[in-house]
Amino acid sequence: MAGFTLFLSFDLDVDSAEALKGEDPVARSRGLFAERAGLAKVLDVLERHGVKATFFVPGWVAARYPHLVRAITKRGHEVAAHGFMHERLDTLNREDEMRVFELAEHMIKHVTGSRPLGFRAPYWRWSSSTLEIVAKRGYLYDSSLMDDEKPYVIEHAGHKVVELPVDWRLDDWPYLEYYRTLTPRELLEMWIDEIDYAASTGGYVSLTMHPQCIGRGARIRVLDSILRRARELGAWLPRGSELARSVLGSGDS
Ligand SMILES: [Zn+2]
Repeated sequence: MAGFTLFLSFDLDVDSAEALKGEDPVARSRGLFAERAGLAKVLDVLERHGVKATFFVPGWVAARYPHLVRAITKRGHEVAAHGFMHERLDTLNREDEMRVFELAEHMIKHVTGSRPLGFRAPYWRWSSSTLEIVAKRGYLYDSSLMDDEKPYVIEHAGHKVVELPVDWRLDDWPYLEYYRTLTPRELLEMWIDEIDYAASTGGYVSLTMHPQCIGRGARIRVLDSILRRARELGAWLPRGSELARSVLGSGDS
């Protein structure tokens, strides 16, 4: 890969995790913010910067809110799999986990017309079967592991899966929603440092955001500022499948 790469992805969880846990309407409403306002704001910013991104979508979300998935694909973004109801895969037995993959792929294909090429584990947690399932079901890439700061190839049982690694530090959720330890300005400062570092080293940075989080109020400016900086520094902003194919093509594993 030449230059530096920003893999920009969004997890469109909406209220899938809260629905699975049977949480109350207020808890679910925080996720539903994505449907009412957050996603549209994210899509507008991406459009303004001419960026095509990757959206990881639980199958249940695709089935329940197909208009959101269509809004994503209509603008040329990629839809990838993210569980069915945002299950923790490490709590499922192998059969149930297989069923989650089948249902998720079915629902995404039903709405988008094509099966997902990428996968991201909900909560970034794999079971002991996940790698085997991802490989055997023919996924081009996974984006769940945290063991490198550049993409690489995993070979498993005769299959190649490109790993697009992630990092909790590069996710909006812990800082702005879960632990609430940073302000959006502090988060932006940290992420700008990561973008500058990746640009200076010709490296890779993966940013994960949630429309129900980064789309809330003035936080959306974080996304806008990140994209402005990335564009200034000449970042390559591929969708997951483009990036994975380039990794396979370059033999850079
Ligand atoms: Zn998620």
